[in-house]
Amino acid sequence: MPKVRVGLVGYGTIGKRVVEAVNKQPDMQVVGVVKTKPDFFAQILLSKGFELYAASRESFESMSKAGLEVKGVLEELLTKCDVVVDCTPEGTGAKNKPLYERARVKAIFQGGEKRDVAEASFVAEVNYQEALDKTFVRVVSCNTTGLSRTLGRLNAEFEIKKVRATIIRRGADPVETKRGPINALIPNPPHIPSHHGPDVQTVIHDLPIVTSAVIAPTTLMHLHVVNVEFAQKVTKDGVIDALSRSKRIRFVDSSNGFDSTASIIEFARDLGRARGDVPEVVVWRDSLTVMDNELYYMQAVHQESIVVPENVDAIRAVTGLEREAARSISLTNKTLGLE
Ligand code: NAD
Repeated sequence: MPKVRVGLVGYGTIGKRVVEAVNKQPDMQVVGVVKTKPDFFAQILLSKGFELYAASRESFESMSKAGLEVKGVLEELLTKCDVVVDCTPEGTGAKNKPLYERARVKAIFQGGEKRDVAEASFVAEVNYQEALDKTFVRVVSCNTTGLSRTLGRLNAEFEIKKVRATIIRRGADPVETKRGPINALIPNPPHIPSHHGPDVQTVIHDLPIVTSAVIAPTTLMHLHVVNVEFAQKVTKDGVIDALSRSKRIRFVDSSNGFDSTASIIEFARDLGRARGDVPEVVVWRDSLTVMDNELYYMQAVHQESIVVPENVDAIRAVTGLEREAARSISLTNKTLGLE
């Protein structure tokens, strides 16, 4: 079977990770990567063997002038692709969409785009089938992916009456110096509910969830404090069983040294994971507390990498490369070392 030809638009925090993940898939081929600027990231992507394309004629000129080998502009890349993964900043994906429509190329957008940019919002373990054969799919944000993974598993096993979650958001990604320094806790948004709950409902449609969010001066990970009320009594072991069925949920114990988000990132770095990435949502087992029908837990989300496996699965779903969610997820997990 011929490989699906994938173009990547936007080589930033998410894009650089997605392109390497796609490149590891036996059924996919990276055709080219679109960038705007002739910076050192362009040199890195060329040194990794990817073909460089420019976002516009203007960027083509500036990159060529800088001595970079540029294959063409975005429109030319689109003639060679079956699907593009758009990892550009918030709102740029929606602006690019008419180009994808004109070229009749399928596209995966990211969580910074509004939900109506796509026909479906996506978290592989929850609603893979909804994305099958669609033209445009949106992989939801890092926070929404983290919440949807654990709540999706719980929702599959138990009847949820309501969810309340507080999201402690990282202030910026490590490279985003322009957003800092920050020395404050910022209610963001200052009203309740935050947009995260409705965003989770784009994936788990009938989930009664209310979220609030605060920005904290950290760049490593987000942290969620989640409270779930069930229609029936649950046990801690039952909850652990339900969450253990996903390889994209990892348990840690504070008694074993995982006393902060910093130790989770250190663990990934010591394992030798590329960039110290943690694509799994990380649940503190010791935080899991059951009181009658209610469950409380804390989980951490590595914002830079959690959506990477979802993008790979979204490509398989929209192209129909794999119609069974479990088979795509298992192949993605295996190739990305999530086992
Ligand atoms: P980023 O700013 O790190 O990267 C975006 C890249 O796209 C930059 O290199 C920028 O120069 C480039 N770009 C801008 N306009 C372009 C164009 N027209 N064509 C090609 N490239 C262009 O952003 P990011 O953090 O990778 O976010 C990308 C998307 O992923 C956003 O929708 C964001 O909301 C979402 N997302 C981000 C995170 C995160 O924490 N960083 C997590 C999950 C989802």
